[in-house]
Amino acid sequence: MKAIAPSPADRLPALLKQIFGYDSFRPLQQEIMAATLAGLDTVAILPTGAGKSLCYQLPALVRDGLTVVVSPLIALMKDQVDQLHAAGVAATFLNSTLEPAEMAARHADLDAGNFRLLYVAPERLLAGDFPRKLAGWNVGAIAVDEAHCISEWGHDFRPEYRQLATLRERFPGVPFIALTATATPRVREDIVGQLRLREPQVFISSFNRPNLSYRVIPKSKPERQVWEFAAARPQDAGIVYCQSRKSTEALAAVLRAEGISAVAYHAGMEAAERSKNQDAFLRDEARVVCATVAFGMGINKPNVRWVIHSDLPKNVEGYYQETGRAGRDGLPADCLLLYSRGDVMKQLRFLDEITDEQAHAIAKSQLDQMTEYAEDEGCRRGHLLGYFGEAWPHDNCGGCDSCLSPRETYDATLDCRKFLSCVFRIRQHGGFTTGLQHVADVLCGANTEKIRRWKHETLSTYGIGSDTPRAEWVALGRQLLRLDLIRQSQDGFSTVALTEAGRTALKDGRPFLLVRPPASTRDSATAIAKAGDIPCDEGLFAALRAVRKNLADARDVPSYVVFSDVSLRHMAREYPSDPAAMLHIPGVGERKLADFGTPMLETIAVWIDTHPQQTFAAIRASAEPVRKMKSENELNGTALATLERYKSGVSIDQIAKERGLAASTVESHLAKAVEGGEKLDPRAFYSADEEAEMRIAFEGHEGLALKPVFEKLGERVSYGSLRLFQAFESRATSGT
Ligand code: ADP
Ligand code: MG
Ligand code: ZN
Repeated sequence: MKAIAPSPADRLPALLKQIFGYDSFRPLQQEIMAATLAGLDTVAILPTGAGKSLCYQLPALVRDGLTVVVSPLIALMKDQVDQLHAAGVAATFLNSTLEPAEMAARHADLDAGNFRLLYVAPERLLAGDFPRKLAGWNVGAIAVDEAHCISEWGHDFRPEYRQLATLRERFPGVPFIALTATATPRVREDIVGQLRLREPQVFISSFNRPNLSYRVIPKSKPERQVWEFAAARPQDAGIVYCQSRKSTEALAAVLRAEGISAVAYHAGMEAAERSKNQDAFLRDEARVVCATVAFGMGINKPNVRWVIHSDLPKNVEGYYQETGRAGRDGLPADCLLLYSRGDVMKQLRFLDEITDEQAHAIAKSQLDQMTEYAEDEGCRRGHLLGYFGEAWPHDNCGGCDSCLSPRETYDATLDCRKFLSCVFRIRQHGGFTTGLQHVADVLCGANTEKIRRWKHETLSTYGIGSDTPRAEWVALGRQLLRLDLIRQSQDGFSTVALTEAGRTALKDGRPFLLVRPPASTRDSATAIAKAGDIPCDEGLFAALRAVRKNLADARDVPSYVVFSDVSLRHMAREYPSDPAAMLHIPGVGERKLADFGTPMLETIAVWIDTHPQQTFAAIRASAEPVRKMKSENELNGTALATLERYKSGVSIDQIAKERGLAASTVESHLAKAVEGGEKLDPRAFYSADEEAEMRIAFEGHEGLALKPVFEKLGERVSYGSLRLFQAFESRATSGT
C-alpha cells in the first residue's frame, strides 16, 4: 500500500508556533491558507488587524517556489520584510530605493532560489525585462495585498494596480490570493474581475473590531479637546485626523507647546519631511501624528491606541478605515469623533463646488450618512456594521458612548416651546431671521450689541430661558434642527426659521421627549474600551519596553518588529523565567527567542528580585461574543509540570529548587491549577487562622494587585498564600 503523502497544510500549526510564536489561528486564517495551498484562487476580506499577512506568509514556507507579494507602498514592503527577518524568514523586496549593487545581489539570490517571499510594487512587476526574470524564479503563488487599490470604487485607487490583470496570463497555473479590509460589495466584485480570478474562494469575516471603542462628542475648542485627550494617556500613541493641511500643522504645534511630542503629516509636505515624521511616529519617537487622510495605508504600527477625528469625515467608509488604524494588535483602543453642525455646513459648502451632478449627489448622500452616524443616539458599532450590511445582534456592545452611558430622555416640551416661539417672535419682530447663537442669547436675556441694535430685549421671549445655561439652549436648537422643526438657511449665514412642522408643533402644543445631549469634554479622557485588555505588571511592562526600544534601535527598525506590545504584556503578567517559558509567550518564536530572549529574561529576573510578583485574573473575553476564548485556566506546560511534582508529594520549596523557580511562582502555578478545578487542600498552604485573617484583609479589596493586602497583613503572609487564597475563594464562588 502506498503511504499517503502528508498535505503541506498539516505543517502549518507547528510552523505557526515555531516561526511566529502563535498557538492558534485567528478566525478564517486556516481556511484561507488551506484554500490557497490547494491551488485555488482566494479572496480574503478581513478587517484591519485580523492577520491577513499571515494568510500568505505561512503557506509560503511550505509550498514549492517563491511567493510574490504585490504591495502598494515602499514603506510597507520594508516594514513587512523587517518583521519577517526578525522571525527568521528568508524574504526580500525589490524597489527603487535599492542601490544597483544591492539590487544585483538580491537578483542573484532570487536566481539561486534563496527566498521564500518577494515583495514588489505593481509597476515594477511588469516593467522592462522583469517579467522574464520573474518567470525564471519558480513563482508558486501571487499575493495581492491591499487589493482594493485595483478598484476605482475604493478609497485608495492606484492605477498601477490595473496592470496586474496581465499577470494571470503570464502565470496561468499559479494561485492568486487577494487581500483587503475594504468591505463594500462593489470593490469586492472589482477585485475578482480585474485580477481575472478563477472561481475564487471568497472568505469574508465580520467587520466588527471588538477592541475599538467609538465615541462622538460635541466639538468645542477642538485643540483643547485633543490635547486633554492625549495628555490623559501619556504612554499611548495616537493619530488625529484633520481636514486641512494647515490645521494638521497648527494642531501639532499646539500639542508640542503642551509638551506632547507631535508631528504633522500631509501630502503637501516635502517628501523628506513627510517620511521623517512618519518614521518618528513608527519608532515611538513622536507620540502623536496630526494628519490628513493622506496618512494611513502604509501604517502597520500595531500599537496605535487612539484615533481622533477633529473634523467630520466625508463618508462612513473612510471613517471606518481611519479608525481601523487603531488597535491592530488587538489591545483596547479608543476612537473619538468631534462633531459639530458647523462642520456639516462647511462641507455642504464644499459640495456646492462639485459641478458634476452625479458626483455631487454621491458626495451629498455620503455626507448625510456620516451625519446620521454622528447624530445617532443608538449603538455606534451597530450603526457602523449596519452600514456595511452586517447585522449586529446585540443590544449593548459595551464599547460605545451610547451603550456605556445610555442617554437620558426627558420631557422637553416647555423648553422646545420656548425655543420655537423665540424663533417665531424674532422673525415676526423685524421680518428677518437670526442665527442659533443669537436665539440662545435672547432666551437667556443676554445684553449683546445685536440685541440692543435690534431691540430684541422687547420680545416677549426675552429672558424666558435665563434659568438654563446658554450652551444647553444651543444644544437644544441643534436637536430641533435634527428633528426638522427649524431649518438653517444655506446662504452662509445659517439663520434659523420654523419649518412647516415647527409651526404646527408650536400651534398643537404637542409634547416633546428629547434625549439629553452627551456630556462634553472631560469625560472624553476616560477610556472605555476594554475588550482585548491584557492586565499586566505595568512597571515591568515599562521596563521591557525600554529594553525593546534599545534592541530595535540597534537594528534600525521600529519597536514592534522586535516584539509586539501584546508579547510584552504577556511577559509582564506571566514572568517567564527560562527560555522554555519564554516560548509560551504569544509572538515569541524560535528566532526571536534566540535573538532577543536573553535581555528580556534578564530584565524580568532583575525585576522579580526587586518587586513583588503580581497575579492577574483571566483575560477578559472580548466584546465579540461569537468566538469562545481558549480557557485561560488551561494550564501551560510549566504549570502542569509543577502540579505533577506537587501531587507526587514534593514540597513547594523542593519544586522551586528543582525547577529553578521562585517559590511564589510555584505557588502561582498551583493557584492556577486550583482555579482550573484541581482539588487541592487549602490547609496544605495556610492554617485556618491565617485563612480567617486573609478573608478579613481581602474584605472590600478591589482590583487584582496583592500588594495592598500584603501590607495590610503586616507582610506576614506570603504573596504565594495570598494568591492561593484568591484561587480557592474564586473557586468557591464559582461553585466548582
Ligand atoms: P491585517 O493585514 O489583516 O491588518 P496583520 O497581518 O498586519 O493584519 O496582523 C495584525 C497583527 O496580528 C500582527 O501583529 C500579527 O502578528 C498578529 N497576528 C496575526 N495572526 C495571528 C495569530 N494567529 N495569533 C496571534 N496574533 C496574530
Ligand atoms: Mg495588511
Ligand atoms: Zn454600542
